[in-house]
Amino acid sequence: MLQMNVKPVPTLDPRINEIRMLTAQIVNKEILPNERKLWGARSEGATEEQRAEARGLREAVKDKVKKAGLWAPHLPPEYGGSGLNFLEHAYMNEILAYSMGAASLFGVVAPNSGNQKILLKYGTEEQKKKWLVPLTEGKMESGFSMTEPESAGSDPRSIKTTARRDGDQWVINGRKWFTSNGFRADFFILMCRTEGAGKDNGRMTQIIVPKDTPGLKIVRGIEVWGRHSDHCEITYDDVRVPLENALGRAGSGHEAAQERLGAGRVYHCMNSVGQMWRAFDLMVERATMREVHGGKLETKQFIQGFIADSYIDIQAARLMTIHCAEKMDGGGDPRTDISALKIFVPAAYERVVDRAIQVWGAAGVSGDLPLAAMYQGARTLRLADGPDEVHRILIAKNVLTRYHAGESWDFG
Ligand SMILES: Cc1cc2nc3c(=O)[nH]c(=O)nc-3n(C[C@H](O)[C@H](O)[C@H](O)COP(=O)(O)OP(=O)(O)OC[C@H]3O[C@@H](n4cnc5c(N)ncnc54)[C@H](O)[C@@H]3O)c2cc1C
Repeated sequence: MLQMNVKPVPTLDPRINEIRMLTAQIVNKEILPNERKLWGARSEGATEEQRAEARGLREAVKDKVKKAGLWAPHLPPEYGGSGLNFLEHAYMNEILAYSMGAASLFGVVAPNSGNQKILLKYGTEEQKKKWLVPLTEGKMESGFSMTEPESAGSDPRSIKTTARRDGDQWVINGRKWFTSNGFRADFFILMCRTEGAGKDNGRMTQIIVPKDTPGLKIVRGIEVWGRHSDHCEITYDDVRVPLENALGRAGSGHEAAQERLGAGRVYHCMNSVGQMWRAFDLMVERATMREVHGGKLETKQFIQGFIADSYIDIQAARLMTIHCAEKMDGGGDPRTDISALKIFVPAAYERVVDRAIQVWGAAGVSGDLPLAAMYQGARTLRLADGPDEVHRILIAKNVLTRYHAGESWDFG
């Protein structure tokens, strides 16, 4: 099996290079050779012995990650993380994403990781003690409950779920769906509309709701891509929680969600780059081996075109993401770049994986390779976290605003 070929980049900060190399070492030595054992044991037909072996392997990899100082890159050391800065974390993602699922072995599991960051930034000391600490210690699980069946997720101002004050409690009513990790979660960070001043965006509040609160009901896990999932539909029917369960000040929910999504989009795109990198390696390797119609696939110009176009897609996606990450890190306004990469990178990812599947033929859509899962992930990304159309509107709006102000666009 091919290994990920990562070397230090001369223009990068030495610490970022060190993190990339350490991550690649774990991915290449500990994860790639064991991929089948690590994840295959989760399938229905797996024996208890195989499951136990997989658990043991996963714990062993986690220990190595901790020893390398790479555990939970999104958390500061006082919460058990490695405290990487934004750029270090972004660059780490493209390496660990080379193996689908590796992020969980590095302590990054959505939606817990996003919730941890929100609790870290907006939580009171009391909330951190009660929810963040057990979440980081793996003693609790969580979900993020924002999207609703009866309102457009791509327009957060349309959220219908409400929380009204009654004495020292919030009373919550509404219906959510696609709340990931719903079955396992011990609590949800719920986005809802609260009374008060301000326009729609200024009325959104995030409230912590323990799953066992009376009135909260998990209706079902929604089937996704033909499989059972833990993306849950949940009803909140006169659910009462103390006022102090609000995260941040009332009305700050929209701002907090945007922040979560902003940095999150860069991390997701670096993950996509790592997965494209893997799909590319698989495709090229296969092209050098498979004989068809009197020659190796690599000698056919159609396939050479796949290789060239995929190279271009990956480089463009990678540089676009790094450009945005550097702008964010430098305190610039990255909003237009975030929207651009949120459109371009998942689409490029989809194209690269699509070509890799084509080159592999039937094996490409089988469970023997990670390509089918990548393909579904890439397609889903085009509508989750803000669909393509909304980001196109935002780019055009930002660009036109500049020109109306008498300026032109600075691509630097
Ligand atoms: C696997 C998975 C996991 C998820 N996990 C979570 C989670 O943990 N928590 C959570 O809260 N949500 C989650 N989501 C939901 C996700 O964030 C939403 O699906 C997404 O925000 C889009 O919202 P929607 O589905 O309501 O689509 P809608 O908002 O109804 O949009 C549908 C389509 O309308 C079009 N559209 C929208 N706006 C415009 C416009 N202005 N102009 C032109 N066309 C437009 C776009 O093509 C868009 O795809 C998850 C979704 C999936 C698939």
